[in-house]
Amino acid sequence: MSIDTIGIVGAGTMGNGIAQACATSGLNVVMIDVSDAALAKGLATIAGSLDRLIKKEKITTADKDAALARIRTSTRYDDLQGAQLVIEAATENLELKLKILRQLDGLLAPEAIVATNTSSISITQLAAVTGRADRFIGMHFFNPVPMMALVEIIRGLQTSDTTHDAVRDLALQLGKTPITVKNSPGFVVNRILVPMINEAFFVLAEGLASPEDIDAGMKLGCNHPIGPLALADMIGLDVCLAVMNVYFAEFNDSKYRPCPLLKEMVAAGYLGRKTGRGVYRY
Ligand code: NAD
Repeated sequence: MSIDTIGIVGAGTMGNGIAQACATSGLNVVMIDVSDAALAKGLATIAGSLDRLIKKEKITTADKDAALARIRTSTRYDDLQGAQLVIEAATENLELKLKILRQLDGLLAPEAIVATNTSSISITQLAAVTGRADRFIGMHFFNPVPMMALVEIIRGLQTSDTTHDAVRDLALQLGKTPITVKNSPGFVVNRILVPMINEAFFVLAEGLASPEDIDAGMKLGCNHPIGPLALADMIGLDVCLAVMNVYFAEFNDSKYRPCPLLKEMVAAGYLGRKTGRGVYRY
């Protein structure tokens, strides 16, 4: 099956980034959201991002116009009917995603593939509510999508090889580097990243080093572009804690115990950059 039209559900941070990546790669896009305001905001973000690429001389004004001309927006799910692949990038909420997936199932062609960009919900569980579990897969993009090369392709228990190969080819067409992962909490990247951040909080709590020295150690000793504590402030300490709680519950393994200091800081409202204070002050 050749894919020329991609449906995207959700025009937020990830949805508009995925739409931009698809449109600049020559694919037609239909982007759906619940309100015209959300769609307008998504389109404005794409236009701004393309303008920055023009300034950096990475694309021309004609490239921008051509990319924007490939993106249709709508608040009606029916407009997704012609898409060979739909990427669900709506708000991270299980009930909402189940509702959207059931809705898509009824209107897409039987051979169409449905992918989800979920960060934390089981691909196997989501696949099971569709009538196309073999044509269902995870496509986990990273933020900001136009800049980040990685896509984790997550196979649910039921995902077919044909579906996997089609989605892998699509990721390559978007100029991304796909890695294939079996369904499991956190997939690969967050499974390694978030426990590392949690460990940095244990190291801080034990008074082994100052926050600045912990971050300098990981930057200079491991060549990380940012230290784990500064990264926690960017991600949000509440998000890091929520992820650790999921691993702790799902794996039922004490190695995923959230650091008490992380819990304490979240309880205090020190959530990171978004609240002006996390490990550091902003
Ligand atoms: P966001 O809040 O920026 O955008 C979500 C969008 O979904 C909003 O525009 C909202 O109006 C829309 N939406 C809600 N209900 C809808 C419905 N019924 N139909 C259509 N649209 C609907 O969220 P986001 O950060 O873009 O996250 C989207 C998904 O991507 C989540 O599953 C999240 O876990 C995942 N994700 C996020 C990141 C990240 O760094 N932000 C990274 C990887 C994956």
